[in-house]
Amino acid sequence: MTDTAGLARELAREAEAHREQLVERVLRLAAVDAPSGAGAEAMRPAGDLLTSELAALPGRLTRTVGPQGDLLEVSLGPRTGPLVMLLGHYDLTWPAGTAAQRPVRLEDDVIHGPGVFDMLGGIAATIGALKLLGKRRLCGPVHVLFTPDEETGGETSRARIIELGTSAALVLVMEPSLPGGRLKTARSGWAAYRLVAHGRSAHAGLEPNRGVSAVDELCDALVAIRELARPSLGTTVNAGVIAGGTFPNMVAAEAYALLDVRARTSSEQSRVEQALTALSPARAEAGLEVTRLHARPPMERTPAIATAMAHARKLAALLDIELGEGSAGGTSDANLVAERGVAVLDGLGPDGGGAHAREERIRVDSLVERAALIALLVARPLPAAVA
Ligand SMILES: [Zn+2]
Repeated sequence: MTDTAGLARELAREAEAHREQLVERVLRLAAVDAPSGAGAEAMRPAGDLLTSELAALPGRLTRTVGPQGDLLEVSLGPRTGPLVMLLGHYDLTWPAGTAAQRPVRLEDDVIHGPGVFDMLGGIAATIGALKLLGKRRLCGPVHVLFTPDEETGGETSRARIIELGTSAALVLVMEPSLPGGRLKTARSGWAAYRLVAHGRSAHAGLEPNRGVSAVDELCDALVAIRELARPSLGTTVNAGVIAGGTFPNMVAAEAYALLDVRARTSSEQSRVEQALTALSPARAEAGLEVTRLHARPPMERTPAIATAMAHARKLAALLDIELGEGSAGGTSDANLVAERGVAVLDGLGPDGGGAHAREERIRVDSLVERAALIALLVARPLPAAVA
């Protein structure tokens, strides 16, 4: 086996030689719409394109049909040894038509365009990394999973992510990096709830006393819910939507709110959930009902993640990269595997900016660097393997 420092030098050189191919792959991927949540038909062209890109890898490609698009997987390398999982999503937050309205473009070594940062750059770097490694440099099994529905909750991919992720020695997630190319080693958890207040309608002028206002009940509940936030611990509660009632002259029979809860630890996440489910109405004849719509656990910086990060930092140094880390407020598929104690590193995508925004972009230098870094991590996934 080539020593790790020697391999790093080779990979850095080869990634640089593949610069143009890496850029062209991003340009091809970003020229096709991949509207998340718009259904399988809308996602098909993006699935077809990515399938053809993945078919160039020396591995077994599978495509599993799903209601929100297809799961794309490639398994490579020998059957035995520590499994490395490379995880990404190819759905974008942009609606159909965006790729034509705002075409992707390369300008002064920066690629601008819809989806390039979140996360087509990471996908292109992953494919590039595996091409650099080829067959001969893989010493253990590698499994690539690209999902079609991360941006809209990932419900149809969740089971597969957890199944593969929990059997992996290392999971690398290709979400955008933090500024400066830092990895994400902690993420807040997220949960969304629907809170419904039930009351009784009545004429607001003739018989107001016969009514029980669901709107008043909801307002009182929201005031109580606001107190559940603990900003110093990173726990936030946002009532993002409220609605209710029918006419100004009616006491409202029903009102609801949609809540977004973020927490850095599982204990904070469950404290808020318990408090929400324990809410009781302030009015004798009113009712309150709380339903959880979505949830992802927090990605806490577990010992397994800390060890993986220290290892990644050492490998990056061999590529002359000073690799930092940080935490992110948003969630990703990394949250699903981190809570099971798996070593997961997120934010392996290239440095850039403007996630989910019109100024979305990535730096070409970082794209090249990431291809080499991902390749080195795949070839040397465990600290013990590094001489
Ligand atoms: Zn993403």
